[in-house]
Amino acid sequence: VAKSTGEGEARLFESSMETKADRERLLRGELQNALTNEQFHLDFQPIVDAETGKIVCCEALLRWNHPKLGSISPTEFIPAAEASGLIVSIGRWVLEQACNDASRWPSDVKVAVNLSPRQFSGFGLAASVAKALAVSGLTPDRLELEITESVFLSDTDDNIRVLNGLKSLGARIALDDFGTGYSSLAYLRKFSFDKLKIDRSFVTDVAVSDENLAIVRAIIGLGRSFSAIVTAEGVETNDQCDCLRVEGCDQLQGYLFSKPVASAELIPMLREAQSGQFTATCSAR
Ligand code: C2E
Ligand code: MG
Ligand code: MG
Ligand code: MG
Repeated sequence: VAKSTGEGEARLFESSMETKADRERLLRGELQNALTNEQFHLDFQPIVDAETGKIVCCEALLRWNHPKLGSISPTEFIPAAEASGLIVSIGRWVLEQACNDASRWPSDVKVAVNLSPRQFSGFGLAASVAKALAVSGLTPDRLELEITESVFLSDTDDNIRVLNGLKSLGARIALDDFGTGYSSLAYLRKFSFDKLKIDRSFVTDVAVSDENLAIVRAIIGLGRSFSAIVTAEGVETNDQCDCLRVEGCDQLQGYLFSKPVASAELIPMLREAQSGQFTATCSAR
């Protein structure tokens, strides 16, 4: 157990980080306090309409700033929160915070929230979403819920029932990291997604690799066939942007437009961007 002095704790953290398993155990323990001690916050990353350059949605991305360990990546702490089950209460907090923030944005901007498969077990998810909408007053069609196909790896039928429940609340469902899973196509038959998000790994080389271009083109075609919006993740360069626009991708997200930003920074961006801030970012089609 750590001494109450800062130095003692710092030493404890350093020595605890020796192995990956130790680090994971440390994070799991610390996650317990993170919620109550308000160490979490949300950043938001704009997603723009590929035609107009206007911000149409902002994705909520969870951030953990630990007083001693500093900022910890969600790719590291989300798996730890999933393993411990804490993701359920953390996820509820994310939903509530994201809906509250979005209720203060222009009404034509949606908010996207990532859901972990663990949040699907039990019957609490639809109730949490309904509560977050009711408390914030956010209209349901402004809430997008992003899932990955890992949701379909277990309890498929139950999880599809939950997804249909979320849809009947009026929320939109997006399939995140599309193309990276084992059998993404099979899931398109099982559930009618409102949006497909092309994984960054295909976007990175879209302008220089014929294979990646072919995959991106196919996903855009699939989206069209299933009446789903197609969003490209991880757009960093003008070449990628131009290419995706030519292919008819509906929405674009990436550092080229904006990194994830804190809520206070987002509000003035939304005000400016509604007059087409990002229109000139990619050269015209
Ligand atoms: P994701 O949902 O696919 O989110 C997109 C990730 O790509 C974010 O990383 C974002 O910062 C990053 N990104 C966006 N544009 C670019 C770009 O142009 N270039 C590059 N290199 N990266 C870009 P982040 O914030 O580290 O989040 C990583 C993952 O953690 C997310 O992937 C999501 O799976 C998970 N995550 C984040 N917040 C939450 C949450 O509230 N709940 C759950 N369950 N998972 C979350
Ligand atoms: Mg996402
Ligand atoms: Mg993604
Ligand atoms: Mg991704």
